[in-house]
Amino acid sequence: HTPLFQVMFILQNNEQGELRLGGAGVEALGTGGSAAKFDLTLSVWDAGGEIRGGLEYRAALWDHATMERMLDHFGTLLEQVAADPGRRCPEIRLLRTAERERVLWEWNTTDAPFSDGACLHELVEAQARRTPAAPALRHGPRTLAYAEMDRAADRLAGHLRTRGVVPETRVALFLEPSPEMVVALLAVLKAGGAYVPLDTGSPPERLAFLLEDAGARMVLTQAALADRLPRCGVEALVLDDVPADPGEDALSHTGSPAPAHAPSPENLAYVIYTSGSTGRPKGVAVPHRGVCNSTEAYIRAYGIRPGSRVLLFAPLHFDASVLDVFTALCSGATLVVAPREEMMPGDGLVGLLRHERITHLKITPSALAVTPPAALPELEAVMVGGETCSAELVASWGPGRRFFNGYGATEHSVRCTAMLCTDGTQPPPVGRPIANARLYVLDPHFEPAPVGVPGEVFMAGLPVTRGYLGRPGLTAERFLPDPFRDEPGARMYRSGDRGRWRADGTLEFVGRTDFQVKVRGFRIEPGEIEAALLEHPALVDAVVVAREGGAGERRLVGYVVPEAAAEVTAAALRAHLKERLPEYMVPSAVVVLERLPLTANGKVDRRALPEPEPATGEGYVAPRTPAEELVAGIWAEVLKVERVGATDDFFALGGHSLLATRVVSRLR
Ligand code: ADP
Repeated sequence: HTPLFQVMFILQNNEQGELRLGGAGVEALGTGGSAAKFDLTLSVWDAGGEIRGGLEYRAALWDHATMERMLDHFGTLLEQVAADPGRRCPEIRLLRTAERERVLWEWNTTDAPFSDGACLHELVEAQARRTPAAPALRHGPRTLAYAEMDRAADRLAGHLRTRGVVPETRVALFLEPSPEMVVALLAVLKAGGAYVPLDTGSPPERLAFLLEDAGARMVLTQAALADRLPRCGVEALVLDDVPADPGEDALSHTGSPAPAHAPSPENLAYVIYTSGSTGRPKGVAVPHRGVCNSTEAYIRAYGIRPGSRVLLFAPLHFDASVLDVFTALCSGATLVVAPREEMMPGDGLVGLLRHERITHLKITPSALAVTPPAALPELEAVMVGGETCSAELVASWGPGRRFFNGYGATEHSVRCTAMLCTDGTQPPPVGRPIANARLYVLDPHFEPAPVGVPGEVFMAGLPVTRGYLGRPGLTAERFLPDPFRDEPGARMYRSGDRGRWRADGTLEFVGRTDFQVKVRGFRIEPGEIEAALLEHPALVDAVVVAREGGAGERRLVGYVVPEAAAEVTAAALRAHLKERLPEYMVPSAVVVLERLPLTANGKVDRRALPEPEPATGEGYVAPRTPAEELVAGIWAEVLKVERVGATDDFFALGGHSLLATRVVSRLR
């Protein structure tokens, strides 16, 4: 950039005198091409009765087509101003009708048939009838055929019905990855209810909040986990205790429910919680219909079919898991379920992919980035999504297979694009909307932004979900009537993402309009962490940001201001947070400040927040044995810290789950 300004506008309205040089003739000649002095220079001059002009631009920054579009928009603007000089600026449209039609309609013409009228579990049941003997679930040496899985789910569904589960009843799942977990999920749906997956690693206080907020009627768990559940008045059903052979009563309820109790596609299938900016997580209420549509669209896009082996990589409480479960079980493929330890990104994951001969892997870019690309001839498709994907990732994992970048949000039935990436030199765009989904890029006046111009992304069409459970105000704020469609009730979800269209109709993700961040694939509202920090009696102010960490990754850093004379330590504050938040939301560094830096207009100046001091262990104890020395050395290398003591805490030194996988592979 030129340091002071990048864009110049010149109006040549001085009188053009004639140059005389005695008797010599003088004629102006064009100088032809020249070097652009600024990013953009628009000059116009009065040419006797008309205004002429020219645009000079930095060719390294803009391409010719972009500049032609920009001139066209400028022309449209001038025409409107000339026709109606009283028009207010926000009422001026940059887009001509044809371009407006293209971005709103042509690129959103996605109508396609799908199994409308069915619920998710009915699609699985239909598959079980088509391929009863095919392997549906694999877990280590165990395999469950489609018919067996369906029968087990029917039995449990019968049991749930006797306990009063009907459409819209929320049933929480507190289960570790296992075939029983998938069977329980299907059983809740078959009984007509909606499942609410809980993170088994969450602190009890948060679990109690989620169970209450979801209005869960019961929680399904396993004997080994039951004592981690908070006591909060919600009935826990331990699956190990449910008789495999149902009693009379339950038997009469297996198979299809009575019509009055059968769910419809508009009923809830699940409620998934995401971070909430005001301090409370919010439950996204997702009906069957949109997910049935997405499931079938992604089965086609990813080419999942009988014989495919899909790894259930995401935990159930992340909605990415929904597509893994249903794209596999609605297409006759096998869903491979593995314990978390075996799916550690890195060599561990590669070993599992090879051993289980996985054909389709859906994973976050952060987890894939720490997994060494390996020869995996059977892995035919890798699907990343949930956060930005780098060009290097496409270059290292794309060759020899299909590589997709998927974009979407929980509020819009998981995902809504599938970009096939082939170019490993540029960060990939996120693609076009899938079947029956629509994407709009709008300016602050809800008008479509021109191609190439960033705006806010609104997600519309069939996948729009119901909203936030029990939060009508927040739902009304984020789920707006779709102004571009006449269909009654059509809504669009305001994503808070910034994006722009490329000329080929694919969408590029540009960033956020708010503070929401993705850290290692986790969607986090810093406001939720700030609220949890401020529950500490000694703090008067707190702000949390995501910074690029020492090891080249994003990490959360908290900045706190204690009351005068109050003594707080980073370690105590982290312990305070661990009681309230899941591990991935606990900042790896907490910096104590006297006051927060402010901007001229009194807001927290996030850019002026200091880089945290490099982590060093407090109360250093030198490694005492050769093994401790070895481990400390590896930690120091992976965490990029100078020294590591025998009693240091890996997480307090800036460690997190993905760095831990590096430690593990080095230790091996
Ligand atoms: P997901 O399951 O897609 O991660 P979440 O509801 O957890 O859904 O997060 C949605 C947000 O994640 C989006 O609003 C966007 O900010 C971000 N996101 C999702 N997919 C991508 C992607 N492919 N590239 C960049 N950001 C993405």
